[in-house]
Amino acid sequence: MSSLKELARLMAELEGQLVSCMRCGLCQAVCPLFAETGREADVARGKLALLSGLAQEILTNPQGVQDHLSRCLLCGSCAAVCPSGVKVLDIFIKARAILAGYLGLSPVKKVFFRGILSQPDWFNRILAWGAKFQGIFVKPVDDLLGSSCARFMSPLLADRHFTPLARTPWHLKVPLRDTAPGAANLKVAFFVGCLIDKLYPQVADAVLQVLDHHGVGVYLPGGQGCCGLPALSGGDTQTFRQLVRLNLELLSDPAAPVDFLVTACATCTSTIKQLWPLMMADAEPAVQERVAALAAKTLDISQFLVDRMGVAPAAMGPAAGRIPLTYHDPCHLKKSLGVAAQPRALLEANPAYILTEMPESDWCCGCGGSFTLQHYETSAAIGQRKRDHIAASHCRVVATGCPACMLQITDMLSQAGMRVQVKHAVEIYAEALKK
Ligand code: SF4
Ligand code: SF4
Repeated sequence: MSSLKELARLMAELEGQLVSCMRCGLCQAVCPLFAETGREADVARGKLALLSGLAQEILTNPQGVQDHLSRCLLCGSCAAVCPSGVKVLDIFIKARAILAGYLGLSPVKKVFFRGILSQPDWFNRILAWGAKFQGIFVKPVDDLLGSSCARFMSPLLADRHFTPLARTPWHLKVPLRDTAPGAANLKVAFFVGCLIDKLYPQVADAVLQVLDHHGVGVYLPGGQGCCGLPALSGGDTQTFRQLVRLNLELLSDPAAPVDFLVTACATCTSTIKQLWPLMMADAEPAVQERVAALAAKTLDISQFLVDRMGVAPAAMGPAAGRIPLTYHDPCHLKKSLGVAAQPRALLEANPAYILTEMPESDWCCGCGGSFTLQHYETSAAIGQRKRDHIAASHCRVVATGCPACMLQITDMLSQAGMRVQVKHAVEIYAEALKK
């Protein structure tokens, strides 16, 4: 438990940021959680009001405050429309950390974050065993979507349809890489991310394929860890900082200079660009500098390909015979980083597909990382709105730019028995290069 003096200091810092909320309520119209529950306490304005009385509340009802704060997807929809520029996500993340510091982490979080996630070797080994033996606990349900469900009642898996662990995680297939720049005269470091490594290795294959195609040198250091967001959103700043330092050593090695760092995970990109500098602001100056430099050169793969390599929509033939495709904007790509045109340009670079926009393409899919684990019913209700919009587009493929969104959308489509494939935008572009 933090000392009361330290707690008072952290709360005073937070309160300084809360004053800019003018209670206009504009965030209500865009909050996916509020749209489902209609509860003022779920929207940014309601949570910020709760946090204004945090000094009092934390002493009288800390568990209640923590429960309220856990009811948030951290989607950033509120921050994106806020006329006062309230840094809602920074505030919520810091408040979660303060509360976790005061209340302590739950035993489950402590074991998972401190004992497993913080040690990439151990994390990888546990999930490799899981991949080997998962057939005992899960069974396939949909071949087209590649989804599975639990064989037995499980509180964690509930009635989800999920993407099972890949038989071979990508880091075992491609443990290291260091290729010289080719025609592009550029070299990038590739941060893989946990979900792509363990659930969607075909996305990492596509990234390497397109980088090789464009003559881009690739630096892929082994031993990469999680970007840290699961730990941070669970309030565990200690594990988060440990992971930042570990990844920083690998990705900003002065002996292996690169022009950019690319990822194919919207959540990893926004975490490295925005949350690493925010949460490392009290680190030693040399570390702060390295974090800031790495954040500045981090790009989503679609940004790199379109803005730096000049990938552009292909000349389109007649619509007949082309595969109807729609695109879901991950919150961490569009709302956090303003990246929306580039993934669409990437999709349109493959003339085998025809892009049709779904209604509300940037409405959150309902995943929200740990939110879906803690509040599955609400998460699924938000996801069903996305599924209905996908259905309205009459597409055969839905593309996106975040593996967490792929997971959630797969669940929604599979449960509804919809014959729609889920792919990453870079996979669609890589398919065009194979022809
Ligand atoms: S939009 Fe911004 S200023 Fe308005 S209530 Fe929401 S957080 Fe406060
Ligand atoms: S981050 Fe998303 S879920 Fe959380 S309050 Fe803002 S709009 Fe609502």
